[in-house]
Amino acid sequence: WAKAEGRGRWAVYDPERSAADIARSALAANLPAALDRGEFVLHYQPIVSLLDGSMVAVEALVRWQHPELGLIGPDRFIGLAEETGLIVRLGAWVLRQACRDAESWRRAYPEARLMVNVNLAARQADDPAIVETVAEALQRTGLPAELLQLELTESAVMGTAGESLRALHQLADLGIRLAIDDFGTGYSNLAYLRRLPIHCLKLAGPFVEGIRGDGADVVADHRDERIVDALVRLAHALELWVTAEAVETGEQAERLRSLRCDTGQGRWFGPPVPAADIRRRLEGEEGAQGTPPRLPEQRAG
Ligand code: C2E
Ligand code: MG
Ligand code: MG
Ligand code: MG
Repeated sequence: WAKAEGRGRWAVYDPERSAADIARSALAANLPAALDRGEFVLHYQPIVSLLDGSMVAVEALVRWQHPELGLIGPDRFIGLAEETGLIVRLGAWVLRQACRDAESWRRAYPEARLMVNVNLAARQADDPAIVETVAEALQRTGLPAELLQLELTESAVMGTAGESLRALHQLADLGIRLAIDDFGTGYSNLAYLRRLPIHCLKLAGPFVEGIRGDGADVVADHRDERIVDALVRLAHALELWVTAEAVETGEQAERLRSLRCDTGQGRWFGPPVPAADIRRRLEGEEGAQGTPPRLPEQRAG
């Protein structure tokens, strides 16, 4: 017998069970209490217009401020939270906190019309209470529905049938927007584009990475660039917005702009930062010369 890390749990000793597995389950076991103790924080990453450089939205990205391990990224605990089902409660917290922050920015800088993007795990999209959870977050915080955009991956969307498909339509009926996250890396059965009320495609990092602007793309026969070109045309033909993810260089931003991509997100435009930094950036944009940043007219979807 061996005592698993923390919380007095006993498990049959298994030499195959790696130290990493044990650390993983210890982390999972601590998630619910961490949520109750308020150890999760949201950072926000700017999504910027490729036309005029204004910040049109921010994506809420959750982090765990662990008392001993420091700031832990979502890749280390979102999967665990999905497996244990905690994602429903954690996701509800993320939604409400993101709406609360977005509403406070809206009150301070109404002209900016800054949208907030919130990631929705597959398990959340399947939760029968999701429409109620979203409606309640909007109602409690006062954030107008059109300033909230939910990001779902292709696989999360593909799994939707019956009830949850109806839920996505009900969410769109609330007036919020839906975006497909990491577009192009999932199962990509494009049939869902016909039957879902989607407003935006977020082009996955790997396609953007292939656009180098330093001649390196010549080696790849400009293939990534052609894919991006085709996906942007597809999106615009369907009257959807396109955001390029993981934009890391000015050359990429410039190429994406000439390919008519609408918005970009990535280290080039700024990393995920605490809410206070977003407020400072809004203040800077308001003080800047020219017209205040505006959200482009909403397209039909
Ligand atoms: P995602 O939604 O695709 O988020 C974008 C990720 O790309 C973020 O990682 C962001 O920090 C990272 N990124 C930003 N700029 C760059 C760049 O220039 N280059 C590259 N290569 N990457 C960049 P992060 O914050 O570690 O989040 C990872 C994933 O965790 C997210 O991917 C999302 O799927 C998930 N996640 C984060 N927050 C939440 C949440 O509140 N709920 C749910 N369900 N999932 C979340
Ligand atoms: Mg990360
Ligand atoms: Mg996302
Ligand atoms: Mg993404």
